[in-house]
Amino acid sequence: MSGEPSQTNRLSPIPLVYSPNYKISVFGMEKLHPFDIAKYDKIFNALKKDGLVTEESVIDPAEVSRDEMLLIHTQDYLENLKKTNHVAQYLEAPALKVIPDAMIDHRIVSRFRKAAGGTIAAARQALRAKSKMAINLGGGYHHAKPDVGEGFCIIADVPIAIRQLQKEKLIKRALIIDTDIHQGNGTILCLKDDPTTYTFSMHERGIYPLPKEVGDEDVELEARVTDEQYLKILGGRLDQLFAKSRPDMVFHVAGCDALAGDPLATGQMTHEGILKRDAMIVKACKKRGIPYVMTLSGGYSRDAWNAQYKSIRSLIQNE
Ligand SMILES: [Zn+2]
Repeated sequence: MSGEPSQTNRLSPIPLVYSPNYKISVFGMEKLHPFDIAKYDKIFNALKKDGLVTEESVIDPAEVSRDEMLLIHTQDYLENLKKTNHVAQYLEAPALKVIPDAMIDHRIVSRFRKAAGGTIAAARQALRAKSKMAINLGGGYHHAKPDVGEGFCIIADVPIAIRQLQKEKLIKRALIIDTDIHQGNGTILCLKDDPTTYTFSMHERGIYPLPKEVGDEDVELEARVTDEQYLKILGGRLDQLFAKSRPDMVFHVAGCDALAGDPLATGQMTHEGILKRDAMIVKACKKRGIPYVMTLSGGYSRDAWNAQYKSIRSLIQNE
């Protein structure tokens, strides 16, 4: 379950980072939360069925380390992550409060550390891969802040990955393109006043998080955004965005909760629209030779996993 992906024609030329340990399972209590925590597994299994990945071809990442987390999070916050009460609050899942403190790390927090490590691993892969792309089938926890978690996010994986790669002098500048329908408020706070990073978020007006933070570039979408409206706005922004931010790497927080039917937003996008959105961002990176890292982030409707699966499959098949 580790090492470089196989290079046969049948398997994905884009490195995929994934572990079955991304999945949170707490005696079925996870079903009480609107987040479809099985989406990582569903996407992996569907790609496997297509013959595009195997257990051996995916990269099983190391958990993000304490030192890596301290690049963004405070020591006090890491202490809070040992306490069930805090974690249940950050994850907005009061039912989790029955888990004893002694089990919260194994049952919950370590799963997030694994997926956050996946974002770092994907960033390294994107630098190495011929495709200049990598996909973490998890991560994108864009509501996690330096000293508090919220909105089902407890580890700021993308900011941590950027800091770690900068520390190793692998990149200087990074652009975050956040297409989850909720503003990446945590990412913005984690990278506040940092001239080496540029946060771009397209999100729905009037829904969580409120009030919004002020990022480097924010686009507020009206309710019930359609594919056509979304793609027109995004397409009209990308050239300027790359020119202003001059990134060495792009992190795409590719939440798909702009899909019609999402319980936490009003977007009206289709699977095809999500696929075109992702392809548009990948194309903009490829045109400029800039490494691209996808993280999955939000998406809560019953078929959110399916939209992301189809988009990833299309990226693989077109590579
Ligand atoms: Zn979201």
